[in-house]
Amino acid sequence: MKVLGIETSCDETGVAVYDTREGLLAHALYSQIALHAEYGGVVPELASRDHVRKLLPLIRQTLYEAGMAVADIDGVAYTAGPGLVGALLVGAGVARSLAWALDKPAIAVHHMEGHLLAPLLEDDPLGRPEPPFVALLVSGGHTQLIAVDAIGSYRLLGETLDDAAGEAFDKTAKLMGLPYPGGPQLAALAGQGVAGAYRFPRPMTNRPGLDFSFSGLKTQVMLAWRDSDQSDQARADIARAFEEAVVDTLAIKCERALEAAGCETLVVAGGVGANVRLREKLQAMAARRGGRVSFPRPAFCTDNGAMIAFAGALRLQAGQHGDASVQVWPRWDMATLPAL
Ligand code: ATP
Ligand code: MG
Ligand code: FE
Repeated sequence: MKVLGIETSCDETGVAVYDTREGLLAHALYSQIALHAEYGGVVPELASRDHVRKLLPLIRQTLYEAGMAVADIDGVAYTAGPGLVGALLVGAGVARSLAWALDKPAIAVHHMEGHLLAPLLEDDPLGRPEPPFVALLVSGGHTQLIAVDAIGSYRLLGETLDDAAGEAFDKTAKLMGLPYPGGPQLAALAGQGVAGAYRFPRPMTNRPGLDFSFSGLKTQVMLAWRDSDQSDQARADIARAFEEAVVDTLAIKCERALEAAGCETLVVAGGVGANVRLREKLQAMAARRGGRVSFPRPAFCTDNGAMIAFAGALRLQAGQHGDASVQVWPRWDMATLPAL
């Protein structure tokens, strides 16, 4: 079964074709970063309009690269939430119309289920995690620990009470003068910082529980930056200490979550999953425990169409699909998803 996947939840237009027999056939991504950079953040109306402009050309390009005609599509998967309502509606409208015209099924995919299943897209079957496992979802809008009892059955173990980890990276970068979106740039700078020059707290690790809070760190950084000489070295040193605080906090809570869930497999997904220090730290933790940790390739940590095509393909293959209505859910609880 060849499934066309469409992602338009935020500022990336992603399209892919996943074949349930042959794997990923093609994928393409268009990022709106340059469009929003001028405003220092995503402007929802501009995002919707740019998805309108880019989605059809990207679908044509992806089908061409997969060596397929439109009529070869067996099903369509699209992100129906969570995300920006206008942006989601563009993808949902195109996906539903295409499925209607082709008389093929279409399925609404939960964006975070897409992120969560992205490590299962990797070619090496030995590298693919199997439930039960614990998933750490760390993206621009979410920081969640989830017990995955089976694909499609998700239990929330803990989440952030304020900023998401990626959001904390972006806001911290911004307040030290880095251009939008600052997260990856802050991480690159951290590599040039001196370890131990600054130290920030590991929020909410000195009491039990699996929730997170990252907004206080931002204030700590603001004060440190204000009181520094604001040199390039100070920026790098603060970036380093900030990254260490976030990475340590995530690692401590992941270990607790594995203990709480009684399993030894950890899956990490979402944009912050591309962070090199986080990957190293969690690998070391897993090795020490005799367990394992899986990540998507860095390009599939951030938003992409491949993860949506894949998540949708699993559900379509199980016979699930929606009716013809174009519906999206800007807020959508993953625990309400039907089991596979
Ligand atoms: P959500 O998936 O929660 O709706 P989103 O789709 O905007 O949010 P993603 O695309 O998964 O989020 O990830 C983007 C986030 O990842 C940004 O906040 C970005 O700063 C962060 N990010 C990307 N690369 C890195 C990195 N190497 N280190 C730290 N953060 C990173
Ligand atoms: Mg994005
Ligand atoms: Fe995302």
